[in-house]
Amino acid sequence: MAIIEVKDLVKDYGNFRAVDGVSFEVDEGEIFGILGPNGAGKTTTVECVEGLRNRDGGSVSVLGLDPERDGAELRQVLGIQLQESRLPDRLRVGEALDLYGSFYRERANTDQLLEKLGLDAKRKTPFGKLSGGQQQRLSIALALVGNPRVAVLDELTTGLDPQARRDTWDLIEEVRDSGVTIILVTHFMDEAERLCDRLAVVDSGKIVALDTPAGLTARVSVEQRVRFRPSAAFPDSLLLDLPEVARVERSGPHVVVTGGENLLQAVASVLARNQIVAADLRVEQVSLDDAFVALTGKSLEN
Ligand code: ADP
Repeated sequence: MAIIEVKDLVKDYGNFRAVDGVSFEVDEGEIFGILGPNGAGKTTTVECVEGLRNRDGGSVSVLGLDPERDGAELRQVLGIQLQESRLPDRLRVGEALDLYGSFYRERANTDQLLEKLGLDAKRKTPFGKLSGGQQQRLSIALALVGNPRVAVLDELTTGLDPQARRDTWDLIEEVRDSGVTIILVTHFMDEAERLCDRLAVVDSGKIVALDTPAGLTARVSVEQRVRFRPSAAFPDSLLLDLPEVARVERSGPHVVVTGGENLLQAVASVLARNQIVAADLRVEQVSLDDAFVALTGKSLEN
């Protein structure tokens, strides 16, 4: 059942249309991703959902509430992790939770929350003395302190080291399993692939695709890719003559061959016939990144 409905959303900044007719629905209990390059309009979109910005067109409904008309009511059921949120350096973890908690009628058990986020020993630590990962976890705790039904998390793991990112992902799955519906704004493919049930791919203010990560990948999965280091030089035409091969690219000592079904067998047998040994042979899976490039003509990795 959809508990968030966004229809034909439009937001202008002066003459610039940052969000240009965006529509999507989020079901209860979903982790719904909004993925796109910087400047695509992701944050503006979720700010209109949160009621932090007024829209210029379209409609938004969150749990039956209109963020513009019912903002006060909506904030009681919505948890918001602000992008790069900074707190005063001297505010202690426990004080921050009490302060944010005071905005809500219903509050989470802060002891449990701090324990779940691995911050139970940090209750008295000032914000300025926390590590980047701890600050990030605190911002998630603050988004959850009002026991929200919907949480909006923006650039969840920016600036975290790999282990802290994986821990944060586990945590978000736990939050979802506890019944919270999550909108996740991200420009990280791996994060989107790992966490999201469905994804809206946004580019230049428009949704260019909306599907599960697997569904998005499947759109380009007719392609296969084989990568190897040949033992002897050979002309591209040797492989390009094969019906299975679409492209041959050179990357330093490596050859990367893209093509259709049975690519590996076809490439391996023609190399064998020509006494070429393929070292470091790898078959590469099509990733969400490939799907993104196919959909938008851009790469996200900057
Ligand atoms: P994203 O979150 O995908 O990076 P944003 O929603 O922050 O994108 O921004 C979308 C576009 O709107 C960008 O080109 C950005 O420069 C512009 N923009 C964002 N906020 C404002 C603002 N307050 N005034 C003018 N332009 C803005």
